[in-house]
Amino acid sequence: MFRRVLIANRGEIACRIIRTCRRLGIETVAVHSTADRGALHVALADHAVLIGEAAPALSYLDGERVIEAAKALGADAIHPGYGFLSENADFAAAVAAAGLVFVGPPPAAIRAMGAKDEAKRLMAAAGVPCVPGYAGQDVGDARLQAEAERIGYPLLVKAAAGGGGKGMRVVEHAADLAPALAAARREALAAFGSDRVILERYLERPRHIEAQVLADGHGRTLFLFERECTLQRRHQKVIEEAPSPTLDDAARTTLGAVAVRAAAAVGYVNAGTVEFLYADGQPYFIEMNTRLQVEHPVTELVTGLDLVEWQLRIAAGEALPFGQDDLALDGHAIEARLYAEDPSTGFLPSTGRLHVVRWPEPSPCLRVETGVQAGDEVGLDYDPMLAKLAAHGPDRATALARLRQALGTTRLVGVTTNRGYLQSVLADPAVQANQVDTTWLERKRHHPPPGLPADARRLAVADRLAERAERAAALAEAAGDAHGPWQAIDGFRLGRSAAQLVRLAEADRLVELTVTHGPAGWQVDDGDRTQVMQVLKSTGDTRVEVDGRRITGLVVRDGPLRWVATARGEVRFRRVPLMASDADEGAAEGTARAPMPGRIVEVAVAAGDTIERGTLLVKLEAMKMEHHVVAEVAGRVCHVAVGLGDQVAAGATLVELAAGEGAT
Ligand code: ADP
Repeated sequence: MFRRVLIANRGEIACRIIRTCRRLGIETVAVHSTADRGALHVALADHAVLIGEAAPALSYLDGERVIEAAKALGADAIHPGYGFLSENADFAAAVAAAGLVFVGPPPAAIRAMGAKDEAKRLMAAAGVPCVPGYAGQDVGDARLQAEAERIGYPLLVKAAAGGGGKGMRVVEHAADLAPALAAARREALAAFGSDRVILERYLERPRHIEAQVLADGHGRTLFLFERECTLQRRHQKVIEEAPSPTLDDAARTTLGAVAVRAAAAVGYVNAGTVEFLYADGQPYFIEMNTRLQVEHPVTELVTGLDLVEWQLRIAAGEALPFGQDDLALDGHAIEARLYAEDPSTGFLPSTGRLHVVRWPEPSPCLRVETGVQAGDEVGLDYDPMLAKLAAHGPDRATALARLRQALGTTRLVGVTTNRGYLQSVLADPAVQANQVDTTWLERKRHHPPPGLPADARRLAVADRLAERAERAAALAEAAGDAHGPWQAIDGFRLGRSAAQLVRLAEADRLVELTVTHGPAGWQVDDGDRTQVMQVLKSTGDTRVEVDGRRITGLVVRDGPLRWVATARGEVRFRRVPLMASDADEGAAEGTARAPMPGRIVEVAVAAGDTIERGTLLVKLEAMKMEHHVVAEVAGRVCHVAVGLGDQVAAGATLVELAAGEGAT
């Protein structure tokens, strides 16, 4: 077995590989970019080497630097994880040429499966059923037009070198073929350096079911059962499970035989995944991923095997000591991918500093796979996946319930995540009944889990009252009058109503609540109804009781932002000042900041302008989309800090405002 292994990756997968190495007594070497100096994978590894700048091309994708680091630190093998260099046949060959072992398949197998056209030709020749279509070498317009007529519409144009859903276009009618081809070729050339495409019949509402295979270098190839990854958004997996709830034992056996045949046809060695779409109960090969897959933990949970351990053993030349008949399925496992992304903005990646990271307790029925920790900056250089939670149970319903509980106790504060979205997807009866297809998530609009915004508002109000009390106490202390009636925060005023107003900006709407202190607690009026709220605990894990119902959540103050995280997800509020003269409250909101890094494409105001709440200040282009930064207060523009074309960081000051609106 190896003595020292270098992990050419980052994030959760690097951490996960390090854990298995540690258990096997193998030393680990982490490589990292300048952005990842403080990253968890670097802290966990026995040794760490800085290999370059934050941009992946200058670090994690630089094969030469990785190999140099492995040699310099005396590693005897390199594990590539997934993504980055994992499916780069030239890199695998260079690793071997440097006298090191690549923990993965032989370069020839990577190459054979690397392009969708060649892979499909090989698979068809080996008798593996493929999605009907055209995967020939002649990719001229005339030939593709003719093939498209033969295949029929709707059809799918795919980049032959593609991955991650890039360079893919659905074509409904013949008239749309030419523009779709042009767009797919452009995207493919930019992303993969090749504009070769294939055509496939577009299967209507299929399922995605993939086979995990494990092959040693001694002629044994095993089928480690399948995963169902039908819940996808934009052709990307969101929730994965094993085994597939769609297949019966006979279908499972058939799939296993086909997958083993596919792997054998390319002389496959190590762990790999053969992906199929199922339509009318029939499997159709789409591609093979010649590496460890993101969703491999669900297979590990139902087989009891550590895939990374077997990858290492096979790479070290060991023969598999068990056969197909020794493998059995144990229960059911489901995994959800937690991303730093904002479902309310079309799933744009969200950036920021993670103030709080709190995971559920890992156990034999719950895996928490992550590479982030509190204090980490989530930027745009890398994949926005923060973690995978994978739950196991004796049956699917139990695994699902455990996953929902686990997501419910997770707290991530500082970036917007898809946790609430995942909760509402998993709560959907169609998901629970497995009545879904690969386009289902896209067609079904998932709203925030019911109750989340209302609960979060109550908690934010409790925190706001606590904040005012803190401020009143501090003022009293400064005035040497800590116990006087003028400092009480219950709203008591001589000859006036005891009502207080709390204003919060929630996404693009303003929430106003009137809070009155009475004998039974706080009366909270949101315009629609009045509820009685007792504040049981008002810092950190805030607890309130609203009309007798207990609501708990974490409230984090982050400059002008108030994050509220409950079991159902997170809500981000922004304080809105009540009066211009209320300097303490108003100061933070007087500054319009960049919501994300981007470029200024329009400056709509000048110093001295009078503005209303909602007036457009600046247009920011980020992630290929325009964002409108608007005034959150009415008043006057004091200073414009940016100019047309400026590149700005997230949180950068754009416009300084003086609030001029009074309100109580
Ligand atoms: P990539 O390599 O870019 O991930 P794949 O070929 O693996 O692309 O396909 C990804 C997803 O796209 C599939 O899981 C499926 O949802 C959808 N898809 C791919 N091919 C077809 C097809 N012929 N018909 C319908 N959907 C497809």
